Amino acid sequence: MRAHVLGFPVDAVTVAEAVDRVATAIRESGCLQVVTINAEMAMQGQADPEFGTILKDSGLVLPDGSGVVWAIKRQGKPVTKLAGVEFVGHVAQWCAREGKSLFLFGAAEGIADAAAAKLQERYPGLRIAGTRSGFFTPDEEPVVLEQIRAASPDVLFVALGVPRQEKWIAKHQKALGVPVAMGVGGSFDVLANRVKRAPVGFQRLHLEWLYRLIQEPWRWKRMSSTLPRFAWLVMWQK
Ligand code: UDP
Repeated sequence: MRAHVLGFPVDAVTVAEAVDRVATAIRESGCLQVVTINAEMAMQGQADPEFGTILKDSGLVLPDGSGVVWAIKRQGKPVTKLAGVEFVGHVAQWCAREGKSLFLFGAAEGIADAAAAKLQERYPGLRIAGTRSGFFTPDEEPVVLEQIRAASPDVLFVALGVPRQEKWIAKHQKALGVPVAMGVGGSFDVLANRVKRAPVGFQRLHLEWLYRLIQEPWRWKRMSSTLPRFAWLVMWQK
C-alpha cells in the first residue's frame, strides 16, 4: 500500500514485500531506486524541488522514521517502521541466498570494507562485487563510476548522506546499469561498529532519534527547526 506524507509517497510494506520488489527489479533487469524517508527528508523535499522530484519518482520509499510512521497512522493506515540499516541486512541476506552481489559505496576510508566483511560474516556466501569510500574529488568521479560499472553489482548501496546520495543515484543509476540502488546514510558506520545504533529499549519507545541526538548533538539545530514544522504541516494538511 502506498501512502503519502506531505505529498511524498511512502510504501507501507512488509519486509517480505520490500525484498520481493528488490528481487523483481533484479530478475527483470529494472532500475529501482530505494529511498528510506524520515520527517527531515520530507521537509528537505519541500524546500529542494530537485530532491522532492526524486522522492516522488523513487520506485520504493520505505518509512524510516517515527515521524513518518506517525503521519501515516494518523491517516488510519497500518504501517511499520523499516530502518534503512535493517533493510540493508534483509537485502544482503536475500542476496546471499540467491547468489546475487552487492557493491558498497560511501563512508570514510575502510568503512565500506568493514561493513562488507560484517555482512559476509552474518550471511555466509554473500558476494561483494566491490567497495569504495565516499570521499573523492570531482576529477575522480569518472573512475568511481567506472569501478562500479565494471563490477556490475545487482544491488548498489550508496552512503554519501542525504540528499547527496539520492541525487547521485538518480543521476547515475541508469548509466551504471545497476537494477537496484539505495541510499543508506550512516548504515555502513553502524555495520562497521563506528556508530552505535540505539538500544532496543529506545527503538521500542520510538526514541531512536533521541539516542542518535545524544551521540551526534550537532544534529539538534537541524532537527529542532524542522520537526515541529513537519508535525504542524502534517496536522494542518489532514
Ligand atoms: N559521507 C561520504 N562522503 C561525503 C560525506 C559523507 O561518504 O562526502 C558519508 C559519511 O561518512 C557517512 C554517510 O556519508 O557514512 C552519511 O551518514 P549520516 O549519518 O550523516 O547520514 P544522513 O543522516 O545524512 O543520512
